[in-house]
Amino acid sequence: METIYFDNNATTQVSQEVLEAMLPFHNVLYGNPSSIHSFGSRVAEKVEEARERVAAFLGVSTREILFSSGGTESDNAAIRSALEVSPEKHHIVTSAVEHPAIRSLCRYFSKRGYRVTEVPVNGEGELDLDYYEKSLTSDTAVVSLMWANNETGVLFPVEKAALLAHEKGIPFHTDAVQAAGKIPIDLKNSPVDMVSLSGHKLHGPKGVGLLYVRKGTRFKPTALGGHQERGRRAGTENTPAIVGLGKACELASQEMDKKISRIKHLRDRLEKGILAKVPNTRVNGGKAPRLPNTTSISFEYVEGEGILLLLDEFGVCASSGSACTSGSLEPSHVLLAMGVPAETAQGAVRFSLSAYNREEEIDFVIEKIPGIIQKLRHMSPLWPYGGQYASRAA
Ligand code: PLP
Repeated sequence: METIYFDNNATTQVSQEVLEAMLPFHNVLYGNPSSIHSFGSRVAEKVEEARERVAAFLGVSTREILFSSGGTESDNAAIRSALEVSPEKHHIVTSAVEHPAIRSLCRYFSKRGYRVTEVPVNGEGELDLDYYEKSLTSDTAVVSLMWANNETGVLFPVEKAALLAHEKGIPFHTDAVQAAGKIPIDLKNSPVDMVSLSGHKLHGPKGVGLLYVRKGTRFKPTALGGHQERGRRAGTENTPAIVGLGKACELASQEMDKKISRIKHLRDRLEKGILAKVPNTRVNGGKAPRLPNTTSISFEYVEGEGILLLLDEFGVCASSGSACTSGSLEPSHVLLAMGVPAETAQGAVRFSLSAYNREEEIDFVIEKIPGIIQKLRHMSPLWPYGGQYASRAA
C-alpha cells in the first residue's frame, strides 16, 4: 500500500538533494571542524558554507546564526538566555497556544518564581493584541510568541508584537519552526531579536536546528563546554546535519511563491472537498491568516484518534494535533484556548501538506473520509441523529 503523507507539520521527507549533500560528511569528510589539521578545516569550511546558506535564507548575517539540535533546543536556549541576562526581571510573556517546547519551559519557570502571562487567542486562534500590549511591564524579561501555530497554521503578527515589546525594552523571541519554508521570512529589517528553526520541518534532517540571535542582543549559552559556535553552543558540530540544513534552506527559498500557491491550492481543495461532503465539520482557525499547508478540521461527534486509525488503514498519515501531545487523551490546548468545546476538540484532525503531495492524494482522502466518519458516527453514543446519518450526510 502506498503511503499518503499529510503529516508534514510533524516531520518532512528529507529531500534527495539534501541527503546527497549530507552523505560524505559521515564517512569521507568526517573530520572534526575544530581540529587544527586541514582535514578538519575542510569540514569547518563546509559548516561555514551551510551557515551562509541559512543566513541568506533568513536575510541575516552569518554571525547571527548558531546551530543547535533542533527547535526545542533553540527555544530553550533563547528563553534561558533572556532570563539569565536580566536576572532582576521575573516575568515572561508568551501565548496560550505555544508548542510544548515553549509552554513546558515557561511552566517550569513559573514553578521557580517567575510570573508567566499566557496571552489568550480568539475563536480563530488570533492573538489578543490588546491583552498582549497590556501584559508587557518593566519586569518582563522576554516575550516568546510563535510565528505559526503547529496545529492550526494560524499566524501571529510577530513583527508588530516585537515592536511593542521593544517600546518597553523587552527582547522578543519567536518560534518560527512551522513558518520556515512555508511562508517567506525576511529578518533583514525585522525587529525580532531571536528566532528558532528546525531542520526536519523543511525537508532537512532531524536533530538539527538554529537560533538566530540579532546583532546586539545579549546572549548567554545554556550548555557550557568547548568553544564551538563562537562560545554560544558547546559541543562538536553535527556536521552532516548542519550541511543538510543549509541545503534544505537553500532549496526552500527556490521558487517559494510557486510552491506556496500550489500547496495552498491542494490544501484548499482538500478542505472544501471534506466540508462539502461531511456535515457537522469546521475548520479551526480557517478565517485567520494562516500557513498555506495546514488545515485543522473538527468532525463533531467522533474522536480524532478513531479517524486517524481508519485513515491509516488506507495508508493515509494525518495527525490529531501536535505530534508531541498525541498519545495523550487530553484535548488539544490550542483548540481549547480558541474556545472549541472539549468534545469538538477531540474530533480534530490536522492535515499538513508539502510540495511532495499530489492532487490524486487529495481526491483519495476526499473520497474516503465520508465513509470513515459515517462509520464512526454510527458507533458514537454522541451522534444525536440516530439512523438519520445517511440522509443528513447525503
Ligand atoms: N516548535 C514548534 C512550533 C514545533 O512544531 C516543533 C515540532 O513539532 C518544535 C518547536 C520542536 O522542534 P524539534 O522537533 O526540532 O525539537
